[in-house]
Amino acid sequence: MQRLLPLAGSYRSINAIQYALDKPGVLRVLPGIRNVEDVKHLLGFFDAAEEERDYSALGSYAPTEMAGTCVYCNHCQPCPAGLNVGLMNKYYDLAKAGDTMAADHYPNMELHADSCIQCGHCESRFPFHVKQMARMEEINSFFNR
Ligand code: SF4
Repeated sequence: MQRLLPLAGSYRSINAIQYALDKPGVLRVLPGIRNVEDVKHLLGFFDAAEEERDYSALGSYAPTEMAGTCVYCNHCQPCPAGLNVGLMNKYYDLAKAGDTMAADHYPNMELHADSCIQCGHCESRFPFHVKQMARMEEINSFFNR
């Protein structure tokens, strides 16, 4: 099922587009366009650096009920074991919710949750204080049922 996620206010910012794309169920983002300058700016998304896409600052505004929840911002990177933590969490959350396409994507990832070396680097960086080391064990169990 596709979701429409309205992007209010700063909908033309690169990190707002990345935030919307990272939400479960969002496959496309269609920003409003007023003129050619908007088109040029929006096309810059494809060449934007990680820092421009980073929306982890949202963590400082997060309500306390978001604590422990991955929002796929990848602020936890770099993982010393080379894991794509945000994408792995996303596939896991979607698969748990019944998304078979996400469940099919997980085995195609280059590295899986069983490659986590439990170093704790990601946990020290998460804006939302995710318990990722325990989550990696959950993810591994889930996909190897
Ligand atoms: S705890 Fe696991 S997922 Fe997190 S940074 Fe270390 S190896 Fe990567």
